[in-house]
This record gives sequence, structure tokens and C-alpha cells, in this order.
Amino acid sequence: MHDVIVVGAGIVGLAHALAAARRGKRVLVLDREAHANGASIRNFGFVTVTGQEQGRVWDLARRSAAAWREIAGPAGIRIEQEGLLMVAQRPEAVAVLDAFLQTGMGEGCKRLTGGEAQGLCATVRSAAAAFFSPHDLRVESRTAIPLLARWLEEAHGVAFKRGVAALHAGTGEVHCSDGVTYRAETVFLCPGDDWATLYPDVYAKEGIIRCKLQMLRLASPGWTLPAPVMSDLSLARYLGYAVLPEADALRARLQSEASAALGHGIHLIVVQSGDGSLIVGDSHHYSPTPDPFSVDAVDAEILRQYEAVLGPAPAVVERWSGTFASAAGHSIVRHPAQGVTLVVVTSGTGASTAFALAEDVVGQIFDSQRKI
Ligand SMILES: Cc1cc2nc3c(=O)[nH]c(=O)nc-3n(C[C@H](O)[C@H](O)[C@H](O)COP(=O)(O)OP(=O)(O)OC[C@H]3O[C@@H](n4cnc5c(N)ncnc54)[C@H](O)[C@@H]3O)c2cc1C
Repeated sequence: MHDVIVVGAGIVGLAHALAAARRGKRVLVLDREAHANGASIRNFGFVTVTGQEQGRVWDLARRSAAAWREIAGPAGIRIEQEGLLMVAQRPEAVAVLDAFLQTGMGEGCKRLTGGEAQGLCATVRSAAAAFFSPHDLRVESRTAIPLLARWLEEAHGVAFKRGVAALHAGTGEVHCSDGVTYRAETVFLCPGDDWATLYPDVYAKEGIIRCKLQMLRLASPGWTLPAPVMSDLSLARYLGYAVLPEADALRARLQSEASAALGHGIHLIVVQSGDGSLIVGDSHHYSPTPDPFSVDAVDAEILRQYEAVLGPAPAVVERWSGTFASAAGHSIVRHPAQGVTLVVVTSGTGASTAFALAEDVVGQIFDSQRKI
């Protein structure tokens, strides 16, 4: 009855469902949860192009941002913000920013003086320079993911079965917790950071662990953030900037001035929602099984970094944490059995890259079948 089964209804699974449905396949998506609850709804919804690693990842991000823009209208998803405002405060950060703008990835980005950055966002503090990138965008993930699933169902005939855990997937079949064996010629496994159930040996071999992130929502400050904001800490962390030779001096300065933030893997991202509230994060702590507790000292450090860039922080109205699968490299795509493909984004960039990754993976499977 189905040509394709996708396990996992996070962004990676939904992107594979879309790519398969667009090839005319009859798709069934299985998820163990009653509704989306994983990394895909806990994130910023920041579809980051600028600052992704040069080469394939940057290309995946550009194509995925285009896909979000194309899908948003038909699926009823609001694009909350467009672009990125990168604020450099330290001279070493300005050097990284300027070096980045010289690369091909800087194309279309507009360099700003500190004063021009303040003209865009009056509360920005101590900006020595900045750039505005038009390439990036933001959606509200906690509503966008359910809307995307509904659109797949209604516009592409994708079937969903929720509250059903896949226990084993082999050639042509997926055995599930409801006692049913679902059958399809092609199976995509997109279980995110759950490695206990499906092919744990693959996760172990790839050295995948979990990364825990702490996140905050602040009350509306009463002003509009013109675009998602990042600053010096991101210029030292995101690979599109961090591999530039100029980033060494920035890292050295941050080591002496922001060691607590670096120790918690904090790099500031601030985005704004439709009701004016701000999502602020994030931290990075790595463990096979991260604890579920939000540590106040980490939140306090995130808020300190916010205040250094945007001034006094409004009240915290929500706190949460999330985890994603983490390993070296952008993602893994493995074929543990004939007709079964396991896809895991291991770089914390699923919202930014999953649509294009899925297009490539699904294309390779069906295009190679066509050739046989
Ligand atoms: C706090 C936070 C902030 C982030 N910010 C960003 C950002 O702004 N931009 C960006 O690009 N990326 C961001 N990321 C990373 C991004 O969210 C992830 O890369 C992406 O969501 C991973 O998607 P996924 O579908 O693989 O995983 P998930 O969203 O975790 O989905 C996996 C699904 O599989 C299901 N599942 C697992 N095992 C089974 C099974 N055996 N049977 C049935 N169902 C199963 C789960 O129930 C789940 O619904 C962030 C991550 C976090 C945690």
C-alpha cells in the first residue's frame, strides 16, 4: 500500500517524506510521539545560511532556505524574520567579519558601520562593525513543524501514524510497537538522537553522542528586532567564520574575556517571535545521556551575553532544553540493510539543511533504482 516508510516526524523525516512524495511515491510516516516533541520544535527555527561551513553544507543551507521560502505560503507557515544581523564588538571580531565578507559566501551581505547597525536596531551596544545578510530566515518551529506535517498530509497525500515506535527495520518492513509490521520497498530512518532502538551499532561506530542546549524565551521588549542577531561568540564558533585565519586572534581574546561563555559552549543567538517575545540561546554540553536539568548559571551567562549586545534583558518567560545527535561532520547517511537508509544530521543544523539533504538522499535512491 505504501512505497516508502519514513520513521521520525522531525524536520529530517518530514523533509524525506516531501522529497519522496514529490517523486510520486505513496509515503507513510511513523513516529512514536503523539505530536512533535524533539529537537525540531525546540530550536530557534533559524534557517542559517550565512556562517555555515563553506562548500557542501553552505550549499545545502542555501537550497534548504529556498525550500522553506517556497513551502511556507502553501503550508501556511509564517516566515517570522528574514536575514541575519551579525554584530562585531571587538576589533578581532571585525577582522573575522571583514575576512568573511571577502569570501564568496559574503556575496549579497552588506557591511555596516557600528552606527549603521544601531540605525537598524537602536538597542545594539558597542558595535564596532556589522553586516546584514539577506540569505537567512526564521520560522516558529513549534507551529511550523505541525503545519508542515499537515500540508504533507493534505497536499501530498502523506499518511501519518503517531504514537507508534519502530522496533526494527529490515528490508521492506518495519516492525512496530502496535504489533503491526508495516511494509514498503523503501525505508528511511530519521530518528534523530534516539540510538537505543534502530541500528545502535551504526551510531556507536560513528561516535555519535548527544548535545544538550539551554534556551530562554524573554518577554517582548517592546521594540522590533530587525533580523536574528549574532555576535563575536558566533564568529568564533560557526565554521564559515571560525576556520578563517583571523578567527585565531578572536578566540584568544574571547578566552581571556568570555571564558565562562566558551566553557558552556555559549554563542549568542537572539530571534523574535510574532508576539514580540525573544528566543535567546544557546549553550552546548556533550554527553551520551545529558541530564534534563537547566542550570541557572548557564542561563545567567546566556543573559549576560545578551545584555552585552542588546542591553537590559526583559523577564524570562520560558526555559527549556533540547538535545541533538552530535558527531564530526554534517550528517551521516548509511544503508544498514537493502532498501533501508538511516539519515542523521549530526551538526545541529537540521532546520537549516534538511530539505536539501533529503532531496539528495531520496534522489540518489530513486535515481539509482531507475538506472537498474
Ligand atoms: C535547542 C536547539 C536549538 C537548535 N537550533 C537550531 C536552529 O536554529 N537552526 C537549525 O538549523 N538547527 C537547530 N538545531 C538543530 C535541529 O533542531 C536538529 O538538527 C533537527 O531538529 C534534527 O531533526 P530530526 O528530525 O533528526 O530530529 P527530531 O526532531 O528529534 O525528530 C526525530 C523524531 O523521530 C522520532 N523517533 C525516534 N525514534 C523513533 C522510533 N524508534 N520509532 C518512531 N519514532 C521515532 C522521535 O519521536 C522524533 O519525533 C537546534 C537543536 C536544538 C536542540
